[in-house]
Amino acid sequence: MEIEPVIGLEVHAELNTRSKMFCACPVVDATTAEPNTAVCPVCAAMPGALPVVNKEAVAKGIKVALALGCAINTVSIFARKNYFYPDLPKGYQISQYELPLAEHGTLTIRTSAGERQIRVRRVHLEEDTGKLTHVHGENGAAYSLVDLNRAGVPLLEIVSEPDMRSVEEAKAYAVALRQVLRYLGVNSGDMEKGVIRFEANVSVRWKGSEALNTRTEIKNLNSFRALEQAVMQEIARQSELLRRGEPVVQQTMGWDDARGVTVPQRSKEEAHDYRYFPEPDLPPLEVSPRWVEALRAELPELPQARFRRFQEAYGLTAYAAEVLTAEQAVADYFEEAVEAAAPEVSPPTVANWITGELFGLLNQAGADIGAAKVSPRALADLLRRIAGGEINNNTGKSVLAEMFAGGKGAAEIIAARGLRQVSDEAAIQGWVEEVLAAHPGELETYLKGKEGVANFLFGQVMRLARGQANPQVVRQVLMKNLQERRRSLDEG
Ligand code: ADP
Ligand code: MG
Ligand code: ZN
Repeated sequence: MEIEPVIGLEVHAELNTRSKMFCACPVVDATTAEPNTAVCPVCAAMPGALPVVNKEAVAKGIKVALALGCAINTVSIFARKNYFYPDLPKGYQISQYELPLAEHGTLTIRTSAGERQIRVRRVHLEEDTGKLTHVHGENGAAYSLVDLNRAGVPLLEIVSEPDMRSVEEAKAYAVALRQVLRYLGVNSGDMEKGVIRFEANVSVRWKGSEALNTRTEIKNLNSFRALEQAVMQEIARQSELLRRGEPVVQQTMGWDDARGVTVPQRSKEEAHDYRYFPEPDLPPLEVSPRWVEALRAELPELPQARFRRFQEAYGLTAYAAEVLTAEQAVADYFEEAVEAAAPEVSPPTVANWITGELFGLLNQAGADIGAAKVSPRALADLLRRIAGGEINNNTGKSVLAEMFAGGKGAAEIIAARGLRQVSDEAAIQGWVEEVLAAHPGELETYLKGKEGVANFLFGQVMRLARGQANPQVVRQVLMKNLQERRRSLDEG
């Protein structure tokens, strides 16, 4: 019998607000800022310090919830989640528990099997913890350094229903969610900086069963690769147990990224009792429906809508639409280029040049589209020159490479390098005659009936013209010459 995985994801996303969730400290880059430079009595948990809710964080959280189609709770409650760990100076984390900011959303994912809706159970606000660095010093000394810059940074937790049925779906969900966060401009999506972290809940069952079996939870997944590998391993481990008829023990596991393995952390018996209770220092969070509607009006076109529109409005393949909408900056670039290139150049042609040539150049340079020296208008100008026959496709590619490297426009490069395509029949006739005279053997083979040799001769003419002849005209002139010679052979 076949085994089916059941996966639910909890995603923690930092919100890129200016100040922290409950104090006025700035949100700084955790990977570059000097440790403990963005800390105050509130986020350092000095006795008597009181939290104040950051309105910008609430606004950004609501935007995410709206983008996921959630219902926003007009009243939600902050709660204390109690546990002791050195990265948590208060001894509790302010989170939301019974009444979260928002509930009941969906996220559309795309896999090789097509599109599917994954339900989002809840979206709630909380605060990030500090960061510990474990040091193994000389003489076996081991200690930990605490950096509180990250303590109190706004964190949004997005919890899915256990709706995913494969590693591929889990990854697609994570990718789609990151894309929504980036489109909304609430999170950089910079996974290396830890601004998005995943926790995967995994169970398995016999296919056909509707049971939700005992699950394990894997924490500390900071990359798509870690998510994929950890979930894959856990599915394999649990499947083996299911086949042997042995029980899965409910437990929390950690992902050891260096070794690429999951390690058990604690079982259900040792599970935390967080002793949640409403945060006495904060009033219920009230959100007016008018504010929610104002925030809804600020939502940009979301990835899924843009993906659809790119196919319908521009006639793109699903593949091209997917690649071009993966990032907003790329999608904007494409649309600007399409507008500037119309009507001579079709949107699919623009798409091909961007996903093929331009991406190739960006890849080689290790650069983002935002840093490209070729503006959308400059690309459009190049493509119009190709469409108009001024240069051919291949020359166009080398012109683009030069535009990319030096930031010059197509016109300047074409003029400076004398690249203008030759369509003049008399000039081309001259090259054809030269090639035929230089290759008597091949010509004879052709005349004897080997049609394929024409391609060789065509290539020779293009070479002689240093690639600058109009290929259509070359083919026409060449064929005319060859046919004439055949005729005179037949007659003679
Ligand atoms: P907790 O808050 O203790 O982590 P929840 O019941 O809120 O537990 O679930 C957390 C996550 O676990 C959710 O994403 C949910 O979809 C997922 N989940 C719950 N039950 C299962 C299961 N049997 N198999 C896989 N995932 C599950
Ligand atoms: Mg959990
Ligand atoms: Zn502070």
